[in-house]
Amino acid sequence: METIRVEGHFHAGHRQLEYKGKCAWVHGHTWRGTMVVQTEAFPRDPQTDMAVDFGALKHIFRSLDHKMLVSARDELFQRADLFDPEGVVVIPGDNPSVENVVQYCLNEAVDVLAKSLKPTGQTYRLEVTIQETDNNRLTADRTIQW
Ligand SMILES: [Zn+2]
Repeated sequence: METIRVEGHFHAGHRQLEYKGKCAWVHGHTWRGTMVVQTEAFPRDPQTDMAVDFGALKHIFRSLDHKMLVSARDELFQRADLFDPEGVVVIPGDNPSVENVVQYCLNEAVDVLAKSLKPTGQTYRLEVTIQETDNNRLTADRTIQW
């Protein structure tokens, strides 16, 4: 079994709609992310004898840096006349909670793998952990065949 593990962090803002409490207000965190990809043996590029570009996986975290994370229903931050769309990332789900930020990163990781690995039908296990605060972190995993 081979395991790729990359780590990164990003500073980003968000707010939780319909939430009763301080998380309803715009605030930010330094989010810390860990991404793990496992498979029996990564298919290697014959030219480089390497598998996945670690930088492409780390870029997923970097692409969220200094952004406002919103859900699709948070239309205020998607008004291009008020906020530069380049600074806004739409996260799946009804709120940009840590649970949904993890799902966003898993979706992006699937895209990176599909672009960088030739399809062999083998099984990959992806795991993303996002630490939102010193005391809160969430891990989710997904198994895909590619
Ligand atoms: Zn928060």
